Amino acid sequence: MKGAGRSGKVAPAADRVVMLASPSRIAIRAAVATTLVAVVLVGWKLLGASNPPVPNLMCVTPGCPYRVRRELRVGEVLPLRCPQCNHRSVFGTHVCKECGTAVVLNRQRGIDLPTYCPRCGREVTRGH
Ligand SMILES: [Zn+2]
Ligand SMILES: [Zn+2]
Repeated sequence: MKGAGRSGKVAPAADRVVMLASPSRIAIRAAVATTLVAVVLVGWKLLGASNPPVPNLMCVTPGCPYRVRRELRVGEVLPLRCPQCNHRSVFGTHVCKECGTAVVLNRQRGIDLPTYCPRCGREVTRGH
């Protein structure tokens, strides 16, 4: 008897699923549309990010995000004092010819070791 009662309840439940199907489809469509918009925005940002000027001055203090593109003023000597962390740790950058990332060479910092690009791992040398 119980089994029959259950099977009797299954039919309305199935109807409910059918009724719910259309709103959930709309939700999926909305999610897909949102994802597409997000992908386009991210792609746009990535494309835009490669165009703005690469910083030519960069702070090497760990955790300090200071970087800027500007000409050195007369009398300024590297390394410059960083306006964000207040250390004398702002050096001129070199650009990785593989991926375009601005990198401060170890040699500029008085470290006699090759410098590897933090993004692609390629050695970055003076003049390239
Ligand atoms: Zn700094
Ligand atoms: Zn690189």
